[in-house]
Amino acid sequence: MTTDTIQVRNPATLQPLAELPVALPADVAAAVALARQAQTHWQSKSFAVRGKILRRLRDLLIDEQERLADILTSESGKPRGEVYGNELFYVCDAIGFWVKNAEKWLSPQKIRPHLFKMKKVLSMHQPLGVIGIISPWNFPLVLTAGDAVPALMAGNAVVIKPSELTPLTALFVAELAQKAGFPENLLQVMIGGSETGEALVDNVDMIAFTGSVDVGRHVMRRAADRLIPVSLELGGKDPLIVLKDADLERAANACVWGALVNSGQVCTSIERVYVEEPIYPIFVDKIVERVKRLRQGQSRDEVELGSMTSEEQFKKVAAQVNDAVAKGAKILTGGRTHPSFSGLYYEPTVLVDVTHEMAIIQEETFGPVIPIMKVKNADEAVQLANDSRYGLDACVFTRDRQKAWQMAQSLHTGTVCINDGLVNYIIPDAPMGGVKDSGFSRRHGAEGIRKYCYQKTIVIDRFGMKNELPWFPSSRKKTAQMRRMINLLWRSGWRNKFRPPRQFR
Ligand code: NAD
Repeated sequence: MTTDTIQVRNPATLQPLAELPVALPADVAAAVALARQAQTHWQSKSFAVRGKILRRLRDLLIDEQERLADILTSESGKPRGEVYGNELFYVCDAIGFWVKNAEKWLSPQKIRPHLFKMKKVLSMHQPLGVIGIISPWNFPLVLTAGDAVPALMAGNAVVIKPSELTPLTALFVAELAQKAGFPENLLQVMIGGSETGEALVDNVDMIAFTGSVDVGRHVMRRAADRLIPVSLELGGKDPLIVLKDADLERAANACVWGALVNSGQVCTSIERVYVEEPIYPIFVDKIVERVKRLRQGQSRDEVELGSMTSEEQFKKVAAQVNDAVAKGAKILTGGRTHPSFSGLYYEPTVLVDVTHEMAIIQEETFGPVIPIMKVKNADEAVQLANDSRYGLDACVFTRDRQKAWQMAQSLHTGTVCINDGLVNYIIPDAPMGGVKDSGFSRRHGAEGIRKYCYQKTIVIDRFGMKNELPWFPSSRKKTAQMRRMINLLWRSGWRNKFRPPRQFR
């Protein structure tokens, strides 16, 4: 019997929304056991049947989009337009994408052995069993349902532990999944914080973790005790580089949107801007002018920015800005809590005179802040961009495509956008993930579904010989044959191939 509860509140108003019972370790173990039973049944279904049920879920999400938007905006504080534009759009497209491609990427594929022509080799991907998805709060639909779709299409059951700040969206998805005809217990949601997350790691067959670096490390260590696979999608400190020949209008618009969409609470948010010297003043003016025009407010208003979601991050962002200012940075706009609201509203902020010694440049800033630095040239921009423990995404703006391509090779990040920003996440065909402290896994593409599977290889004998050369019994004759064969196959020089190995001379 569970007695602990968590309070969910609206970060825009700080009013309580719900009180939910926490899933204790025993509850999690029981849920995973039930999911395991459901998975056996689900795995036996064809891709077509799984796809049909997922498409039904998509229809229900579209039919229920108003209720979805009510729930999602109230627990996250984001504007309503973002629910449709970023969250629902992504999940609807992802469902279609995985339904279409799962079979192609998971079904048996013939492998032609380069040497062993007398064997037929097939490789396929089979579901791991029960996948645990541990999610952060910044995209309560995308990072729960969106990640569950490929896992389900692969034939797994899924148990989601959403962030304790935004659990209501995932609960709503589970409710719709029931209506869509998902087998009972195939998709479950466990409510709670770290203890519930740890219990999930202790029970499932694979963990897909998205969140902070420190918790990611802890999850991986815990998963190591059970030798279960983990995928880690962690934080970022993504740079945007603007060279002097760039289309400045496009670069400025991409920069402001990329840094401030979802109030800057995106793993691939633009968090550092490096601008080539000659265009620095004009580019800074363009950014400030655009940021000053942005509207901030309640989810139903016609606004670009809502409130932030996490009070902890809200305080961290304010502390980073204050620290930067104390060390010499200048605020060109914003830099304070919005005076008109009681909730977690931090004004969109532009900072200049920042340096790599400041936390605002070194640490992840999960909030609406754009720090801008002047650089001498592209080389310096790349060098500074790489001076980070993170390596998720990077953006380069220039009209010189060749230079952009070279810079993309030198940037130590999992993805690079050229003359674009943050677009990787909405292209499910494009593998996406990080290096260094940003993690190592990939969402999307073949890897984005194969990570929920184990690879199985099947070798079939073609000719049915009674015995094979390496099999028993051993004999000197067989050994000599084997040695001659090695000589013939791999000794360099044609003459040497037919010379008997040294001892036989
Ligand atoms: P967080 O690491 O604090 O929490 C993430 C999840 O882990 C939550 O559900 C939390 O309850 C759970 N958790 C906490 N302690 C745990 C433990 N000991 N064992 C198991 N689970 C535990 O992160 P957050 O503050 O919710 O999210 C913000 C972070 O997420 C940022 O760093 C952001 O960059 C990252 N993020 C990364 C991506 C990506 O794709 N790389 C996407 C979105 C967010």
